Amino acid sequence: MMQVLSIQSRATTKESPLSGKLIVLTGPSGVGKGTLMRSLLQRHPELYYSVSATTRAPRPGEIDGKNYYFISRSKFEQLLAQGEFLESAEFAGNYYGTPREAVLNQVQSGQLVVLEIELEGARQVRTSFPEALSIFILPPSFEELENRIRGRGQDSEEAIARRLQRAKEEIQAADEFDLQIVNDDFETALNAIEAALFG
Ligand code: ADP
Ligand code: 5GP
Repeated sequence: MMQVLSIQSRATTKESPLSGKLIVLTGPSGVGKGTLMRSLLQRHPELYYSVSATTRAPRPGEIDGKNYYFISRSKFEQLLAQGEFLESAEFAGNYYGTPREAVLNQVQSGQLVVLEIELEGARQVRTSFPEALSIFILPPSFEELENRIRGRGQDSEEAIARRLQRAKEEIQAADEFDLQIVNDDFETALNAIEAALFG
């Protein structure tokens, strides 16, 4: 797989992020990854955003094939068994996975591909593709993270509690990643991601 992807060495990647073709954006739920991704894609339509598959129910306004591929648990398990996912994880009671073929095709054709995924999946990608540039988005504080999850108003109390519990564990892993960016002021965080991707 490494030969297929032919991404440059880690040392080169750190000096020149653009030589890496795969970008992993991770961080706790509610930190603002999705919002940052949307703005990033608006500014840089040439980026390829990998649409994940999930067994989670769509939130109001979410569109199948755009936000996620919303699939059943049995379908997910079938795809997983067939090796169709580049990485996958269970998060807050649902499965999430990155379609392997689409991402590899895009990387091979020279695209800059961005994955927005949770910690376990990000670790899997780091193991499979150590040359990928990995970015961890941190909240300014745990209280602010809770405010954002609540403010989004799209999760049940139970889901919020699970996400916050998981967030505590996730934040401790921040320094495993190449870059840590605090999403306090939105524009500042967005500019920092841009700088990492485009120098
Ligand atoms: P994630 O994709 O990481 O779960 P979202 O992108 O859904 O997070 O953001 C969670 C909430 O936080 C949203 O309501 C979003 O508008 C808000 N948000 C994102 N970034 C900021 C920021 N820098 N300051 C304040 N609120 C933010
Ligand atoms: P949400 O349910 O809020 O859309 O996503 C929950 C978490 O799953 C977020 O941290 C999001 O980044 C992550 N996620 C989304 N797609 C994938 C994926 O394909 N793989 C993994 N591992 N995590 C994902």
